[in-house]
Amino acid sequence: MLDGHAMSAPEHNGKLYIETVGCQMNMLDSELVVAELRKQGFSLTSDVKDADTILFNTCSVRDHAEHKIYSQLGRLKFSKRARPNQVIGVMGCMAQKDQELIFNRAPHVDLVVGTGQLKEIPRLIDEARSERGRRMAVSLDRKEGSRAEVASSFESYDPARDPTMRPTPFQAFVRIMIGCDKFCTYCVVPMTRGPEQSRPPREIAHEVKLLAQQGVKEVTLLGQTVNSYKVTQDGKLFRLSDLLELIHDTAGILRLKFVTNYPRDMTDDLLQAVRDLPKVAQYLHVPAQSGCDEILKRMKRGYTVGEYREMHARIREKLPTAAVSSDFIVGMCGETDESYQKSLDLIRECRFKNSFIFKYSPRPGTKAIDLWDDDVPEEIKRRRNNEMLDLQNHISEEDNANLIGSTFEVLVEGISKSARKAQAAEALDDSFVPQNSEAEPAAGPTQLVGRTRCDRIVVFDGNPRLAGNLAEIAIHDCSATTLMGSIVTHESEHRSYSLPVVS
Ligand code: SF4
Repeated sequence: MLDGHAMSAPEHNGKLYIETVGCQMNMLDSELVVAELRKQGFSLTSDVKDADTILFNTCSVRDHAEHKIYSQLGRLKFSKRARPNQVIGVMGCMAQKDQELIFNRAPHVDLVVGTGQLKEIPRLIDEARSERGRRMAVSLDRKEGSRAEVASSFESYDPARDPTMRPTPFQAFVRIMIGCDKFCTYCVVPMTRGPEQSRPPREIAHEVKLLAQQGVKEVTLLGQTVNSYKVTQDGKLFRLSDLLELIHDTAGILRLKFVTNYPRDMTDDLLQAVRDLPKVAQYLHVPAQSGCDEILKRMKRGYTVGEYREMHARIREKLPTAAVSSDFIVGMCGETDESYQKSLDLIRECRFKNSFIFKYSPRPGTKAIDLWDDDVPEEIKRRRNNEMLDLQNHISEEDNANLIGSTFEVLVEGISKSARKAQAAEALDDSFVPQNSEAEPAAGPTQLVGRTRCDRIVVFDGNPRLAGNLAEIAIHDCSATTLMGSIVTHESEHRSYSLPVVS
């Protein structure tokens, strides 16, 4: 039995299995929940069959993500027979959106916890286990009550961190905003994440400092529309540009990134901050969603294609080497072939570094589902999606090819995915390596992965101990998604050494 909250609960093995789908916000929420549960004595397991506590952190943006969670829940229908004290919880956007429906569709679920009630999870797990009853904690609406509740939830959680849940131990997310007030007609986020709220700069600066002290080198500031950030503190208005300046000189931090941007709020002061602050990534993710004015109007995106073009031209003028990426939705209600072609034109014109392309999926609770039929057949959506992806890949590959011969400062993230897979396969073949042993990273050169300041992925051979450092990489080959290179070695008198390794 565990300490703290769990003392009053029946026996359980303290093993927590958590599965996270969706965006970086969800990854951060899971990190915060796990950190809090670790304080109660829980430890993580990657085997769902081994866990007495199971949490699903969910996403509602697409139908597919929800189906996946419901089918995972279906597979756990009888698991309480073997583990009578097991608690199964659903948290996040789907919990906020579906509420009671989750209990109806999966009666073996014990907890449903919305995005604004995460701090209650340890208590709710404890209660569900000891009283064997269902627990639901969700925001009732977007009004002032839920605003305060959501804000207090994320304030009380954000300083607690769990490095094992991060992409790497030296990369961390920091939430600077929650919620969204833009109400795009296809999107559930304003309902599931509540009203737009910005965190005070002093709290963010404190958190970044704490993370740096824990060894974090790269911080990504998160917000649904991160460049809409706006807070008045001690009589001074802080925009995102001011916030970047405030945290820029935090000792130990090498890179600052921010996602996701809203085109209308891409102001000149922000572009100047990206230009002038050397630690800020020269990378802007600014979703266009469509290249057709009629569709943008249906989406209620709040800008025209002309305005997006004007914004993109300002980025190119002020930050000529910055990478810009985008999101597009294909098959939005009413999207004709002509309007879809206009999206392709915008991609050709802007030459995005990459685009995330999604097929429109009608979401309950949105305006679009009430106003229009989902009138673009699935096979047309699929064809448009594939074609658009081909076009984007073609552009990405051409632009990457132009970088062959250049040298970039790369923040090394660690061993590349393919090298990891190869190592795992080798370990399985090797009868002398005990399975389940935590293998030491290889000491010799292996394929590493990192990112340039403009967020391009680079692979190169090097020592895994370079992870978390900056290295200078010369590019000699590429694909649409990846640059391939090698560490620049400088000759100096009688010896050679690799440059630069900043620790
Ligand atoms: S800006 Fe639009 S798409 Fe983005 S989170 Fe807000 S409502 Fe959703």
